[in-house]
Amino acid sequence: MYPNSKLLIDGEMCEAEGEATYPDISPWDGKEIGRAADGSVSDLDRAIAAARRAFDESDWPTDHAKRIAALRRYAAVLQANRPRFANLARDEAGAPGASIFSAACDAPLGMIDGWLDVAENYDWEQDIGTSEMFGITSRRKVWKEAIGVVAAITPWNVPTQINIAKVLPALAAGCTVVLKPAPETPMLGSLLGELAVEAGLPAGVLNVITSADAATVGAALVADERVDAISFTGSTATGKAIMAAASERVAKVFLELGGKSASIILDDVEDFAQAVGSGAMVCFHAGQGCATITRMLVPRERHDEAAAILKHALEGVAYQDPNSPMQIMGSLISRRQQERVLEYIEIGKAEGATLVTGGGIPEDKPEGFFVEPTLFANVTNDMRIAQEEIFGPVLVLIPYDDDDDAVRIANDSVYGLSGAVHSSNMERALDIARRIRTGTFGINGGMWYAGDAPFGGYKQSGIGRESGIEGFEEYLETKCVAFPESAAA
Ligand code: ADP
Repeated sequence: MYPNSKLLIDGEMCEAEGEATYPDISPWDGKEIGRAADGSVSDLDRAIAAARRAFDESDWPTDHAKRIAALRRYAAVLQANRPRFANLARDEAGAPGASIFSAACDAPLGMIDGWLDVAENYDWEQDIGTSEMFGITSRRKVWKEAIGVVAAITPWNVPTQINIAKVLPALAAGCTVVLKPAPETPMLGSLLGELAVEAGLPAGVLNVITSADAATVGAALVADERVDAISFTGSTATGKAIMAAASERVAKVFLELGGKSASIILDDVEDFAQAVGSGAMVCFHAGQGCATITRMLVPRERHDEAAAILKHALEGVAYQDPNSPMQIMGSLISRRQQERVLEYIEIGKAEGATLVTGGGIPEDKPEGFFVEPTLFANVTNDMRIAQEEIFGPVLVLIPYDDDDDAVRIANDSVYGLSGAVHSSNMERALDIARRIRTGTFGINGGMWYAGDAPFGGYKQSGIGRESGIEGFEEYLETKCVAFPESAAA
């Protein structure tokens, strides 16, 4: 059992109001791994007040060198605690070994230094020269300033990646932060708070409020006048609710939402089996990734061959040893998600898609929240299983007639997060990449995921970008200052 996790408010790790706690459940066996502080709206109120104070009354937003030095110390403490993040990623978020060595732990910890470099080298002031307007000659400068208090609201799938990708760039920009992790993964959020105290970050710059209730604390955070910007990753439905609530007071929103990403296998691909076999990555972290490839588009005449390759690949995905660095498959986060995925499988059958493999709970895994690697073939893109985000290890195979048809099908989605193409002809692949309306795109297995690369979506996959310079600038405001040319500046 892990010790009870706490809240971070104004530089102190503390209990929730009334010492309220709730159970933190392991996805592997449904058992309690410990208890987490169940923060209330009044705890949240104190956290926002502390963040506001730290922003308004300290030099955190303005002393760039001091702030970056403090964050370098924080980064070192986070990296030194890698085993704690790794163990919690497994025990609390259900991350299998391969995920811990990448998105669930090692990748985000490895990205921090790059984000701090962006901040350290950032040009906070630009001289845009003089202008002559209304008979006034003015010299103008454009200043970049921290946007203020940021609400970071995060999901449970890869909590450390998403918590860190919001908290570190926001702090590096000079903002102060209230982090609200998902109810399912409180300890990973609380750990960020605990280590901020250990690293000596100034009181109030980071606050962490965990809570059992999915919406109440989050909604109160979004609605609070003292919060300047909201950085949210999660479902499109919640993203829409957040955007609507933020519009009441015209607060800036960054949204990273759902996806239904398509991989197009072109007819000229050299190694068809390898390209199609990449579809087995739908099982990575049990398919609980917003940018996971969940639709595979193959030439109609090779559809059945592709189905056979994928059946073999998916049936070979092992899930017995979560500690193996080779294991990509894990459990779903909760009973609710398991039921949701199983419901989608029933929908697929009812819609007339061919269930090639999987479709149920594995016989040898009655505990936890597993769903078998599942393949639907003969899918048409108008089916719900091709349109809606399932967030489980479920791949749909869709035949197409020619390149134009493949592009049309891939783009026929409310989402636009990611995509891929496989071809032996680079020109043809690039032409497809230009025509697909998504925020990230991989050609022949190319990997866009990195700390210095902007990540985000078109259409209902979101607004704005995380990581890279674009991600850093989400946390900045722009001020144009003008003065008479003769004045010294
Ligand atoms: P899911 O339904 O898959 O758990 P959500 O997108 O609802 O995903 O959750 C992502 C994050 O958003 C979580 O931290 C959750 O507590 C929070 N959340 C849920 N509803 C709201 C809301 N109405 N306002 C703000 N945050 C919310």
